[in-house]
Amino acid sequence: MLLDVRDLRVEFHTRDGVAHAVNGVTCGVDAGETLAVLGESGSGKSVTAQAVMGILDTPPGRITGGEVLFRGRDLLRLGEGERRRVRGAELAMIFQDALSSLNPVLTVGDQLGEMFTVHRGMSRRDARAKAVELMDRVRIPAARRRVRDYPHQFSGGMRQRIMIAMAMALEPALIIADEPTTALDVTVQAQVMDLLAELRREYRTGLILITHDLGVVADVADRIAVMYAGRIVESAPVRDLYRAPAHPYTRGLLDSIPRLDRKGRELYAIRGLPPSLLDIPSGCPFHPRCPLARDVCRTDVPPLYEVGRGRGSACHFWRECLRG
Ligand code: SF4
Ligand code: MG
Repeated sequence: MLLDVRDLRVEFHTRDGVAHAVNGVTCGVDAGETLAVLGESGSGKSVTAQAVMGILDTPPGRITGGEVLFRGRDLLRLGEGERRRVRGAELAMIFQDALSSLNPVLTVGDQLGEMFTVHRGMSRRDARAKAVELMDRVRIPAARRRVRDYPHQFSGGMRQRIMIAMAMALEPALIIADEPTTALDVTVQAQVMDLLAELRREYRTGLILITHDLGVVADVADRIAVMYAGRIVESAPVRDLYRAPAHPYTRGLLDSIPRLDRKGRELYAIRGLPPSLLDIPSGCPFHPRCPLARDVCRTDVPPLYEVGRGRGSACHFWRECLRG
């Protein structure tokens, strides 16, 4: 396994108390595989990614347990220098907001080129040629000319392509993309996702795709991990999960997607709100919102039960849920 996250735990110390942002997350991704991590905001998906990348804002954030094995080495135990080398060259991240991730006072050519001068010791001239090549690769029209432009001169979709080019530059083994298309309109979203999928196939890059939108990942992900209150509540191959969710929360998410074959039927929206991480409900954290909840759910935290080949569900009543 390329990345193997085991029992990861992260806390934030706030004025109002300790926020339990990540509470024992175990997941992994292989070379060439795409794992979608799905959850509402505040479910811990971005914090998990930041902990893996080693860019968790510290303090107030603190990793309190677990392992992040990347090609067999625990990233949490590497020194800062070593970790910085891994980041960039072997592990790259794409953020939602390309404009604030790119440097506004450098041309995109200089920013792309820097990847090669800094990490590969290339001359500026060769690095510039590489930058043009990469911009071509992510299909930015007139790359040779546009390499001299600044980030604000590109559209949102083109900027996100530049971010992808930056991430791909050193051909990393793993890319983590945190809501990479959320800021874009639907058509551009689809183009950016297609590009990511294509590059992943070509380079056999492992991809972790963080999203709150189940619709976005259906076509590109191999597996999905659904997060709720800092835990993975369901983990499954995409097709299995769509066909028959094994957790009431996943079922609620699926039922909230507009579908042609359900036209006219009212969309099911999950009642209530996700819990505050300062005050996670006892037992199953989903119980205040769950249509299947009963007494045991208020007292006993469900483990991630094995519910099939490569499938897990953290629901005491997963059988019932699977039956629909
Ligand atoms: Fe619902 Fe209980 Fe399952 Fe939690 S354990 S998802 S409350 S049925
Ligand atoms: Mg987020």
